[in-house]
Amino acid sequence: MLEMNKLSLNIPDTTKPRVVVIGGGFGGVNLVKYLPEKDFQIVMLSKQNYYGFWPLLYQVATAGLEPESIAEPIRKLFDDRHDFHFRFVRVTDIDPTAKTVNTLIGAIKYDYLVIATGTQSNYFGNKQIEQKSFPLKQLSDAVNLRSQLLQSFEQASMTRDKQIRQGLLNIVIAGAGPTGVELAGSLAEMRQHILPKDYPGLDFREMNIYLVDGLDRVLPPLTPASSKRAHEDLEKLGVNIKLNKLVASYDGEIVTFKDGEQIPTQTLVWAAGVTGATIEGMPAASVERGRYIVNQFNQIAGFEDIFAIGDIAVMKTDKWPKGHPQVAQPALQQGAHLAKNLVRQLRQEAWKPFEYFDKGSLAIVGRARAVADLPGNKSLGGFIAWVAWLFVHIYYLIGFRSKLIVLSNWVYRLFTYERGTRIIIRPLVRHDDKTVVELQSAGK
Ligand SMILES: Cc1cc2nc3c(=O)[nH]c(=O)nc-3n(C[C@H](O)[C@H](O)[C@H](O)COP(=O)(O)OP(=O)(O)OC[C@H]3O[C@@H](n4cnc5c(N)ncnc54)[C@H](O)[C@@H]3O)c2cc1C
Repeated sequence: MLEMNKLSLNIPDTTKPRVVVIGGGFGGVNLVKYLPEKDFQIVMLSKQNYYGFWPLLYQVATAGLEPESIAEPIRKLFDDRHDFHFRFVRVTDIDPTAKTVNTLIGAIKYDYLVIATGTQSNYFGNKQIEQKSFPLKQLSDAVNLRSQLLQSFEQASMTRDKQIRQGLLNIVIAGAGPTGVELAGSLAEMRQHILPKDYPGLDFREMNIYLVDGLDRVLPPLTPASSKRAHEDLEKLGVNIKLNKLVASYDGEIVTFKDGEQIPTQTLVWAAGVTGATIEGMPAASVERGRYIVNQFNQIAGFEDIFAIGDIAVMKTDKWPKGHPQVAQPALQQGAHLAKNLVRQLRQEAWKPFEYFDKGSLAIVGRARAVADLPGNKSLGGFIAWVAWLFVHIYYLIGFRSKLIVLSNWVYRLFTYERGTRIIIRPLVRHDDKTVVELQSAGK
């Protein structure tokens, strides 16, 4: 393995203003798309070398899509550019006085800095949950969760001990936002159509899918009508919903709730909250609840040349007093808008304030079951919302290759219910070999 001190960022000098973008997600990538390279040198630093389409991540975790079908390499997205420089590296801190960004392999100076680092899972300080539960934030999480689920079914088929089997077949999803709801619905359909064929020796009436949330309804960002509909649809699919319920601890075997209830499970999925992926070096006064406070030009409070966009930014307006929702559209729109303002700056034109265009919210519960909140306080449900969900997701998937693969997968699945990627890719057992060793030594 090459030592880090043998590497450097290695960015060519330039006479153009240099825009350094931290993060290659929805916001960062859309910003670059709208920034003309004849006017700027663009340097993107990201700790993932790909652009991930997170709304479909749960389908990777439930064996419906291959990981590569929902992601594009960042270098490929911009391979027609000559003054765009991507570096696959984590940013460690920012020095606003020296106008410098520090990374694990060296520093770089900026004229404009755009922070588009999104969010990370929030475990509310519970280290045990952080170590033992399964997050769903990036491709490696989805592949790991898929492997965990399949491995649990494999192990359940190899034991006659009811208690051990129950822990393997119980799945607890903490967080009933869109990720938790979509994951629960997808698992329920898998239980109905796929798993009994794969594991004829198992009785899948023993498989329980629990969806738990500390709030009093599923899909809290959506309207109560959509929440109610999604709740009913999930119950029809056999998902066990527990509301007003907070996870207190998880030791890898048993989830304990604040009210004392316990559920044995080898799989606790953590979709219960996120916090901003802030970077060291910015003044504490510029951060509010894990997000950088920005004005309507996305400038971070106190700076003219440092911007935050997307999930990491909180822009309070009369219409959005707590900031925009942490979803894809504000990130995409802020990225494009900031790029246009930077061009205006070069032309010495006045900047335009950002205004969010709310296109509504969608969540899928299962085949032909979805909910949608549209602008103008209208809600849709059922088949129509499901078709809308399919089209919106195909439309926003980046790249022709991804659109084609995902669409063909969905059409195939529509007629067959089949899910082709039921592959375990990781060392045989999670934290240690405990379960397998126990089963083997017990001769089960
Ligand atoms: C599972 C899941 C499902 C979702 N479903 C939906 C949905 O259905 N609809 C919807 O609208 N939204 C959905 N979202 C939310 C949506 O994906 C986000 O709102 C959107 O990605 C925000 O864009 P962003 O650019 O701010 O951050 P991101 O897209 O998260 O990008 C952040 C980037 O920053 C990089 N980064 C972070 N820290 C560093 C560092 N220190 N150094 C270098 N690079 C760094 C990351 O690697 C990443 O490339 C979902 C999110 C998840 C996780």
